[in-house]
Amino acid sequence: MTATYEYGIDVEALDAVDFHTHVEIDAAGRCAYDAELAQATGSYFKLGDDYFSRVDDLAAHYRGADTAAVVFTIDAHTVSGHRPNSVEDLIDGAARNSDVLIPFGTVDPWDSNAVPRVRELIGLGVKGFKFHPSLQGFEPNDRAFYPIYEAIAAAGMPALFHTGQTGLGSGLPGGHRIKLRFSDPMLLDDVAADFPDLTVVMAHPAVPWVDSQIAIASHKANVFVDLSGWSPKYFPPQLVSAIGRQLRTKALFGTDHPYISLERWRRDFDALGVDAEVLPLILKQNALRVLGLAR
Ligand SMILES: [Zn+2]
Repeated sequence: MTATYEYGIDVEALDAVDFHTHVEIDAAGRCAYDAELAQATGSYFKLGDDYFSRVDDLAAHYRGADTAAVVFTIDAHTVSGHRPNSVEDLIDGAARNSDVLIPFGTVDPWDSNAVPRVRELIGLGVKGFKFHPSLQGFEPNDRAFYPIYEAIAAAGMPALFHTGQTGLGSGLPGGHRIKLRFSDPMLLDDVAADFPDLTVVMAHPAVPWVDSQIAIASHKANVFVDLSGWSPKYFPPQLVSAIGRQLRTKALFGTDHPYISLERWRRDFDALGVDAEVLPLILKQNALRVLGLAR
């Protein structure tokens, strides 16, 4: 029996909201990725063998930093043939740690049960949905998937899409059959235009399409950018400039934990010298707006 998640977050007391963290193993030991992909990804990010973040460990770590975290995994079973860690287990863990964790759901877009599954996960208390078009092997602007977005938009929840290159499969023959073009942010420009009521979050600096990403997020009120997956030290200069200007209400702090640590991201972001008055927007206020928690 899965617990239903409800917010237990003290918004005022929080220092920051990390909009992008991964929980990639469940209580039964099932992992988000198959063994080859997990191993290659760990070495790409120079992590050890056992780098998967467990939900209670992640919560304890973030609680110590007065930081809330959006947590999710990725269901890509049709394309990968691999069932991910249990989303129900992740929601249970978030419910146990509702003072710091915010669970997002995941559905495999190719699964004929995707729309009912969206509704089922909303019933369990998820606050948004995570997609990874490259890993899940789909073009996000394909009309076949629009009923999924309709269900998410109807619930007033954000949809977060991986954009740009990915560490997943990096260095493997054929990149483990993962195609980068599915994560071109321009495909999400169609989605955001066709669903003006759907909040679309483009995850990561979308290398090599950062200029497109900035243009889309500047143009469309319902599009945001999370700044996870890269140390801020390596952010392209046009992105750093946009964060301080036209994207100051659109950019969201995110790490991509466990691939980038909270401490490293914060330290390297501080070194960018972004305007002090922009910091609280990026670290917390923009995320609260996207989640519908802003007052
Ligand atoms: Zn990620």
